[in-house]
Amino acid sequence: MTLDLHSTKQLNDGRQMPRLGLGVWQSTGGDEIVAVEHALKSGYRHIDTAAIYKNEEGVAEGIRRSGVARKDIWITTKLWNDDIRAGKARDGFMASLERLKVDYVDLYLLHWPVPGIDQAWSVLEALQGEGLAKSIGVSNFQSNHLDGLIKGSKVTPAVNQIEWHPYLQQAELAAQCATLGIALEAWSPLVQGKFKDDPLFTEIGRAHGKSAAQVLIRWHLQRDVIVIPKSVTPSRIEENADVFDFELTEVEMKRIDQLERDGRVGPHPSHITF
Ligand code: NAD
Repeated sequence: MTLDLHSTKQLNDGRQMPRLGLGVWQSTGGDEIVAVEHALKSGYRHIDTAAIYKNEEGVAEGIRRSGVARKDIWITTKLWNDDIRAGKARDGFMASLERLKVDYVDLYLLHWPVPGIDQAWSVLEALQGEGLAKSIGVSNFQSNHLDGLIKGSKVTPAVNQIEWHPYLQQAELAAQCATLGIALEAWSPLVQGKFKDDPLFTEIGRAHGKSAAQVLIRWHLQRDVIVIPKSVTPSRIEENADVFDFELTEVEMKRIDQLERDGRVGPHPSHITF
């Protein structure tokens, strides 16, 4: 698999989404500005934020400081649950657009499958028709949520962004997404840092002169999953994108696959309380 930092995955709407991006959940207080600026200056072209992260304005400032043209950057943001429940999808979207200081986003996601998703999805379809959200998708949708949404809608989501890493590979859901042509995007790809407890990544990394985090990110890419590792540390931001000069062998990939243990670090989508 030949990949580089600008490799894209073709979505079911024909658009090309960068396979690697910077996640900015919990990056606030100015850290997000530094992280986004540094990532873009290091070659990243994809930022993953959300209304609930309360850092869309900082993301906009980081983009401005980077000097990289808007058209060259993929921006994903997400509609928060309160707005889905309240039937305020368009208001939520317009507020994000304003905070991000852009006139379109590249990908707009329903953040969680809470009551109101069908109505919100029809708003996302309209936003896409108006060119305001170039691609539309979902996040944290399980099999039943996908089935329900697709039954009553015109547009199939382009992406499902879910918790996905070696400890939680969600094989059935991943297979369903593949069948439906929905691209899989992994959140918490570094298990929120908990990968450090596992000697396997370090051991494999040693064979390639790479760090444990780089092995993990490379594993996602070789599994054809879009990956958005988070860091606010400039050296780590660079490290996490320096994953295109080596390839994991089939044996190494399988050893990592075998770490599956239904091990969530985030909330289960069917039991959320927010
Ligand atoms: P992650 O799995 O990317 O882990 C980030 C943590 O790993 C960092 O805080 C740091 O402690 C550590 N780390 C990062 N780079 C490292 C390196 N090179 N070496 C050693 N340690 C390193 O965590 P995440 O933030 O939960 O997930 C990534 C992104 O996914 C988020 O920022 C957000 O954009 C998205 N996300 C989406 C949802 C959703 O519901 N859609 C939920 C969670 C996260």
